[in-house]
Amino acid sequence: MKFLSSVVETFANKPIDWDELEGALVRADLGVPMATRIIKKLQEREAWSLLGIKNVVQVAREEISRVLPNRSEPIHPLPEKPKVILIVGVNGTGKTTSTAKLAHFLKQDRSATDPESSRLNQSTGSPSSFDRADHAMDVTTSEGADWSRQGRRHTVLLAAGDTFRAAAMEQLGIWAERLGIEMIRGQYGVDPAALCYDAYQTAAKGNMEFLLCDTAGRLHTKTNLMAELQKVKRALAKLDPNAPHEILLVVDATTGSNALNQAREFKNAIGLTGLIVTKLDGSGKGGIVVAIQEELGIPTRFVGTGEKIEDFAPFDGREFVAKML
Ligand code: GDP
Ligand code: MG
Repeated sequence: MKFLSSVVETFANKPIDWDELEGALVRADLGVPMATRIIKKLQEREAWSLLGIKNVVQVAREEISRVLPNRSEPIHPLPEKPKVILIVGVNGTGKTTSTAKLAHFLKQDRSATDPESSRLNQSTGSPSSFDRADHAMDVTTSEGADWSRQGRRHTVLLAAGDTFRAAAMEQLGIWAERLGIEMIRGQYGVDPAALCYDAYQTAAKGNMEFLLCDTAGRLHTKTNLMAELQKVKRALAKLDPNAPHEILLVVDATTGSNALNQAREFKNAIGLTGLIVTKLDGSGKGGIVVAIQEELGIPTRFVGTGEKIEDFAPFDGREFVAKML
């Protein structure tokens, strides 16, 4: 965050030069189209001689606010089936950590979802269905005591879909155990499409509300990774034509325009419903949120602000604009 600070510092004691300003806005990762727009607005509004950095900040805030949605689309459970969330991205961006954070968030925090749409309020009437409350107790034994006080929470199943790296399955397994969340894993190198297929069936049988699938970030070649993710999608769609319901790309805010390129590639190959933007803590970065929204129309849904499980929140456009400086 505070990605406008460098722009402000650049022009603290000198007049605004258009080329230099454009360069500074692009270096803040806002993207060329946004940088050009901000400059065009400034040129329309301000007499050249009166222009100061305050005007730049004001116009940047206005233009960025125009592009970003105020509130990110919440993630609702489905009435009858598990909602499948596929977490994708290149290695090291924070996929496995964000998968665990999102699982914890859904399990813990009901405010992101609309209770009206939750099937927790409905009775399926099916003799094969079992009481979700009992089940939630089963998978959260360590927290069972305060569960009843907090009311019903979402049930989540994890799938360790990065079968290419044994360490990734271990890493998610450690989170799952710590959080008291069930996880489906396979042997090292097992086909992730088959693993996610099995995990869906487990989630459906267990009447789980969410299935979160972690995935690999790198295979032997990039083409293989995209082909593998497409296969995961097809496998899930055999069980529910609308699955995966969400495909969230994890990008590291500190990688700037690389993140924009990643978003473009993943969008073209498998489609994306949103972003999880990580490492916004203390990096002086974050402009990439604006560039990806404006240039690719992909909204940021969640942000990661640290390595701890609670360093995670739904994206809030107003807060984002407030924290730019
Ligand atoms: P993956 O390869 O995409 O699965 O990435 P990991 O989840 O293994 O994360 C890579 C590294 O980034 C780990 O050291 C995480 O602790 C760290 N990380 C993930 N999210 C954040 C974040 O929001 N802020 C910071 N500072 N570190 C993060
Ligand atoms: Mg990982």
